[in-house]
Amino acid sequence: MRWPVIAVLCLLLFLHPSVPPVQAQDTSACAACGEKLSGDFVEIEGQYYHSNCFTCDYCNKPIPDSFTRYEGKNYHTSCFEDHIALRCDVCGGIIKGKYISNFWGNAYHPEHEGVEVQCSFCRRFIVGKLVEKSIVFQDGRHLCGICTSTAVFESAEAKLLLMEVAERLADFGLKVDPRSIEVNLVGNDALRRLAAGASQDARGFVDYEVARTMSGDVTHRATRMYLLYGMPRTEMIGTIAHELTHVWLFLQEEKDRDNVLAEGSCNFSAYLVLQETGTDQAKFIIDSMQNNPDAAYGEGFRRIKRYVEHNGLGGWLRLMKAPRQKASF
Ligand SMILES: [Zn+2]
Ligand SMILES: [Zn+2]
Ligand SMILES: [Zn+2]
Ligand SMILES: [Zn+2]
Ligand SMILES: [Zn+2]
Repeated sequence: MRWPVIAVLCLLLFLHPSVPPVQAQDTSACAACGEKLSGDFVEIEGQYYHSNCFTCDYCNKPIPDSFTRYEGKNYHTSCFEDHIALRCDVCGGIIKGKYISNFWGNAYHPEHEGVEVQCSFCRRFIVGKLVEKSIVFQDGRHLCGICTSTAVFESAEAKLLLMEVAERLADFGLKVDPRSIEVNLVGNDALRRLAAGASQDARGFVDYEVARTMSGDVTHRATRMYLLYGMPRTEMIGTIAHELTHVWLFLQEEKDRDNVLAEGSCNFSAYLVLQETGTDQAKFIIDSMQNNPDAAYGEGFRRIKRYVEHNGLGGWLRLMKAPRQKASF
């Protein structure tokens, strides 16, 4: 599950009509130069200025007619629009009033949300330079030009990442032998068919096959990991860490495990591994987990994180191995 983090901000700016010069009939001083008013002067919000002293805060030249006032400063409207105004990163238009700011520092008009195409992974709008090298998958996903540069399309490459992630998780105490795990890259539709009931944002799924004799001895084991093809490398690493933790949990043979504990723990593993990579994409994924409102993937993750802060990684491992009725966290 992924939820883009957006902040709605508001920008106030005022466009003033031209200021007609008035004849001095006052003895007050110019708000800019402090000299007594004489000749033409203008009045702006109760302040008086010599016509030549009322200048643009960008180019310092006098303002003869209409101007734009923004954050207490005055600008030629053209100076404001060319140099000061906040521009929408989607359409390039000037932002007035409400706008949205995303994780990547892009500001945009709220009306683009849900209308213009966004990358299925990083949620950037696919506009301008990001259109180059962007991909539209048959299953309807969009990959922006940045995510394309690290996207994983080969099962062999995903398997190498699996080996690396397994090593990282072993360092944290979660030991799983990755060699016997079969890795398959699949499209969105196939993933949803395989993992019945998977959420719309699911990135991976694990299928276990265990054959036993009548006395319960295991005679055959197969573990297949299905991962969305075309995920950017960092997203793939996080997803593998999540799914590998499911494998580890499965191997503990505790059948009746709490879903919040399981998904929260799997996301916590992803968090541990992603934190080490330190990339912006990793920070984006961690940010999405921190803000995910889902009871298991979001709140479960945050509860596990707090649990580890108090009880350490060892406490977390013991918690995951405990029978359900004892695993309170
Ligand atoms: Zn003056
Ligand atoms: Zn100017
Ligand atoms: Zn716009
Ligand atoms: Zn992207
Ligand atoms: Zn999961």
